[in-house]
Amino acid sequence: MSKKIVVLGAGTGGTIISNNLRRHLPEEWEITVIDRDDNHVYQPGMLFVPFDLQKTGTLTRSRKRYILPGINFVIDEITHVDTDKRTVKTKNHSFPYDFLVICTGCKIAPEENDGLMEAWGKNAFTFYSIEGADLLRQKLKEFDGGKLVLDIAEVPFKCPVAPIEFVFMADWYFRKKGIRKKVEIELVTPLTGAFTKPKASAVFGESAKEKNIKITPMFELNEVNGKEKYIESVQGDRISYDTLVIIPTTTGDEVISNSGLDDGIGFVPTHLNTLQALKRERVYVIGDATNVPTSKAGSVAHYEADVVVFNIMAEIHGIKPEEIYDGHSTCFIVYEKGTSSLIDFNYKIEPLPGKFPLPHMGPFSLLRETKANWYGKLGFEWLYWNVLLAGRHLGMPPTLVMAGKEIG
Ligand SMILES: Cc1cc2nc3c(=O)[nH]c(=O)nc-3n(C[C@H](O)[C@H](O)[C@H](O)COP(=O)(O)OP(=O)(O)OC[C@H]3O[C@@H](n4cnc5c(N)ncnc54)[C@H](O)[C@@H]3O)c2cc1C
Repeated sequence: MSKKIVVLGAGTGGTIISNNLRRHLPEEWEITVIDRDDNHVYQPGMLFVPFDLQKTGTLTRSRKRYILPGINFVIDEITHVDTDKRTVKTKNHSFPYDFLVICTGCKIAPEENDGLMEAWGKNAFTFYSIEGADLLRQKLKEFDGGKLVLDIAEVPFKCPVAPIEFVFMADWYFRKKGIRKKVEIELVTPLTGAFTKPKASAVFGESAKEKNIKITPMFELNEVNGKEKYIESVQGDRISYDTLVIIPTTTGDEVISNSGLDDGIGFVPTHLNTLQALKRERVYVIGDATNVPTSKAGSVAHYEADVVVFNIMAEIHGIKPEEIYDGHSTCFIVYEKGTSSLIDFNYKIEPLPGKFPLPHMGPFSLLRETKANWYGKLGFEWLYWNVLLAGRHLGMPPTLVMAGKEIG
């Protein structure tokens, strides 16, 4: 073995796993991580930009700064992956590997949604990009009443709690502005409710009702009509809007489909528990690039990285990878400036009430709106840059802990 590990993408997952691998492997193992640019974006902060609670300039930092010495960081476009020849091609180089970790994430593709580009930036906006979030901030500042619709175009999409957080924050923002009575807020989703998991969905649905936010489920977007300001479903239902906030169709990166590694919609078929790419040898996938049925979230990439480091080390020692990962995901759900909820779940166990991370002590509360959770959400940004990206452990296993959860 030539002892080369190549990591594709230096976002949340790629940075965490490169650093984690560097901490665990001797120097003879060469680790290369490739990304197209040097701009690492703290994506959770984009939620706060439209409500003027975060400045766009604070969200982007140099990737290099967060990649440990002893890792070869390459800035280049990844153009092809050949898993038979175990080689990655970029615009300017070629990288052979013994182990490959795919962390190319996913992205919004507004051009995939009929009619959206004509309305883009005029009466249709998004907060799923820095530029989009800033444009939406300006729009909301001018907004003096009318109907605000948030539409999720399609599943899967990144951070399934972000749309709920957005409409909750919009309720707070317009109350603070003193114009809430003049604003109708509606969340339109292809899901059966506010969230992917039924029990948490019922809790968030109840909160939405209290905040006078309408939720329209099972709406599969067919078209955006920016001229007449409506969205139309595949079934022909129409919902009018004054301002549309949209999570457009989400896809994996082209390099995944161009290399024949995808499931038909741009994501890599991945073993649910070992996180190996299916039918490929010595290839692992973490973060938003996988097709595993859990949230596309940074917490997930962090938990998955621990599992993949363990399994790569196992393979290096000639041991079979273990089926460890259970779909574990942890997410704050902001209710308004000052309070937040928190959920912790996996493939099988739905979000339950209780305390987190210390059983029975917290300080955070699960599936409840608290001030402590809000401070947790704010503190998470510091934790992200200083602890999580460094590939450090938080003293927690990567799988769901049932202690502290209230069952039944
Ligand atoms: C508005 C919003 C709010 C969010 N809030 C939360 C939250 O509160 N909590 C949470 O846990 N998660 C949250 N997330 C989700 C979280 O940010 C992502 O799930 C996480 O960043 C995924 O990590 P990743 O490594 O898979 O992808 P990314 O971090 O997106 O990294 C992928 C990297 O691959 C690179 N890349 C892709 N293709 C190529 C190529 N061909 N050549 C070179 N480089 C390439 C990209 O440049 C990018 O840097 C939020 C996301 C959004 C949009």
